[in-house]
Amino acid sequence: MPFAVTSKATQDPAGVYIPRMSTHPAAQSAGPWPASVRIVEVGPRDGLQNEAVPVAPEARARFALALAASGLTDIEVGAFVRPDRVPQMAGTEDVLALLDRAVADRAPGTADARFIVLIPNAKGLERALAANARHVAVFTAVSETFNQKNIGMGVDASFQMLEPVVAEARSKGLWVRGYLSTVFGCPYEGRVDPVRAAQVATRLWSLGVDEISMGDTIGVATPAGVGDVIGQIGARIPREQLALHMHDTRGTALVNVMAGLLLGIRTFDASAAGLGGCPFAPGATGNAATEDLVYFFHGLGIQTGVDIRKLVAASEPIEDALGRSLPGHVYQAWRRSPGVSEMFRS
Ligand code: MG
Repeated sequence: MPFAVTSKATQDPAGVYIPRMSTHPAAQSAGPWPASVRIVEVGPRDGLQNEAVPVAPEARARFALALAASGLTDIEVGAFVRPDRVPQMAGTEDVLALLDRAVADRAPGTADARFIVLIPNAKGLERALAANARHVAVFTAVSETFNQKNIGMGVDASFQMLEPVVAEARSKGLWVRGYLSTVFGCPYEGRVDPVRAAQVATRLWSLGVDEISMGDTIGVATPAGVGDVIGQIGARIPREQLALHMHDTRGTALVNVMAGLLLGIRTFDASAAGLGGCPFAPGATGNAATEDLVYFFHGLGIQTGVDIRKLVAASEPIEDALGRSLPGHVYQAWRRSPGVSEMFRS
């Protein structure tokens, strides 16, 4: 049990004490919380790609820059996929060019920012290199059926396709993230065996990626499943190199993040204002919202480097452009009652 009871005065009658990093006497040594975590913002890519209305490249670049100005350092900004199939990601070259210019102009938050682009294959890498991308992400899935339906090939074939792509990206000095989908469950095959998930994760790791993001693609995970998966994958791959990508489709994203924190995960993916629906559950919530994670972490005294007010402001033009109310809890609370939100700002 990682919750140490350190003071009679603060002890709950049930004997459980949830420490806050900043006041916990043992925070510097034995406390369960890290001093800080890293958030990988996926709104401008994973979020917008799963929205029905395409947003123009200029607005996507402005969005990414506003997110960087809020303090986010890792931002997924686009994808080099076929624009006829994924019109939401058309013009990713333009997004990168605008970001390059902003970096040269020393726009706030851009000096340390890592702008990541998704590449499905060799053609995607070619486009990424031509656009001067320095950080890329590749993807595959644990389950056969999901991979067949999503990319038209099985797991083995996807690794054969990705191996030279990752090797070339590495040889060009790029930082490479590996996304693993359906780690906790598959919309076609149901529950996923954590041992199987760990085997596929190990294979992805052996390609030479810098980190692996474990995706709960359809938002079915619960903390017990998070424990099973991290137990298996974390036994084979250093936990500092693992990220959790939770979806809130069933309202379990934050408790799963809590489970991941207690199990040594320090990187969490999230999407500003909860952008991006769940492609397998029309109308349902998809990505965990960045504001919700930031509020949760700050409440525990864990630093994220993010100014939550600036973060909320970053998504407002996107909400207008999409013409739909975005689902993030903290985002909506801030929109409805900024005065109260300000009192609880941390
Ligand atoms: Mg997602």
